Amino acid sequence: MISITEATEIIRGNQIPSGTTSTDLSNAPGRVVAKDILSPEPLPRFTNSAMDGFAIRWSDIERAEEGPSITFTVIGESRAGAPFGSEAGPGEAVRINTGAMLPDGTDHVVAVEDVTEEAGIISIPSSLEYRQYIRYEGEEVMPGDVLLERGSLITPPALGLLTSAGVESVTVYEKPEVAVLVTGHELVDSGESIQPWQIRDSNRAMLSTSVLLAGGEVTFTGRCGDSFEDTRNSIRKASEAARIILVSGGVSVGPHDLVKEAAEEEGFKRIFWKVRQKPGKPLFFSRRGDTLLFGLPGNPVSAIICYIYYIDPLLRELTGREYGWRMVSGNAGERIENPGDRTLFIRTQHTRNEGGSLTVKPLKKQGSHMLSSMAMADGFLLLESGEVVEIGEEVEIHLFPWI
Ligand code: AMP
Ligand code: MG
Repeated sequence: MISITEATEIIRGNQIPSGTTSTDLSNAPGRVVAKDILSPEPLPRFTNSAMDGFAIRWSDIERAEEGPSITFTVIGESRAGAPFGSEAGPGEAVRINTGAMLPDGTDHVVAVEDVTEEAGIISIPSSLEYRQYIRYEGEEVMPGDVLLERGSLITPPALGLLTSAGVESVTVYEKPEVAVLVTGHELVDSGESIQPWQIRDSNRAMLSTSVLLAGGEVTFTGRCGDSFEDTRNSIRKASEAARIILVSGGVSVGPHDLVKEAAEEEGFKRIFWKVRQKPGKPLFFSRRGDTLLFGLPGNPVSAIICYIYYIDPLLRELTGREYGWRMVSGNAGERIENPGDRTLFIRTQHTRNEGGSLTVKPLKKQGSHMLSSMAMADGFLLLESGEVVEIGEEVEIHLFPWI
């Protein structure tokens, strides 16, 4: 049996190539830029006022006679969305709003607070300090400047920036195509009538949602019973639709655990089966060309822990992010030990103390069939065989990707 480190290295070493695609902005949020995005337009798009006030020529103030104030005749208005449209001459002022185009002939905006106005004439104190209140065309971005570099996440502000600069489509990393197949005679879907010996399939919803949250696309989902032909046919269909296949259940040692053989029959080459970990020991990993097939144990906690630890980082990398997990460190709120001979994934919950440090507590009900603690947890602690963490000791937590 291999260790979790060996399993991680083997899986990472089998990473499939990532693709890029051009998409319109409405499909871009949350994705990663695959090619620098250059600006087609300057920002600001045109020279405009940074204040509500009056546009004038500064030379009128410089050349003014001695006296407490200088007067100008107001000859019109430039509004946001409705420019003045002609030129202002010496001694003339144009009323202007924030964001309105600066009228030709003017080079200065005097803030409305610095002006007194009466019957179409404004007075400005001669002691007025030089302060332009102008936002110049291209002062932020020139056409051809890089708006977003390759590797940037398209966040809401990034989307705003691209939209304002007139970008209409961007090259981003492709969403990896993932299939989710659940196996087991005992499974029914939610909403279906259920017999006393049946259970509801929780894994299909759980794994599909995880894939979506990681930026992947679920291009196939299916459910099959524990028959060899069914399993094999479902794997074939999944492999026609996706490059990463997640199969849940049917990878243990029982006579009805047929996924490994069915995958091999479909041409997948076994890379490993079984990892020295709890939960998740029967994890199966195989490959056919550029298609990966993971056989996840059916126990819901085992399935989702294997997803978080092994598959989520792959999806992150395929979508242009860094391979890995988000980690936080905190102090153990109680003594935790691993008396067993496998690496333990312990579901934990953290709370923030007044000083800002985190206290990490293992949750009760750690059985691999017990999703309640998984639903309450925000991460997990890895504990090697024989390892003991004393109360107060610093520990590193792998945060769940959706936290
Ligand atoms: P298996 O890995 O197929 O031996 O299944 C291990 C345990 O997980 C059994 O108790 C199954 O009933 C349960 N199980 C398997 N698949 C699912 C599923 N999709 N949803 C919920 N429980 C499951
Ligand atoms: Mg089963």
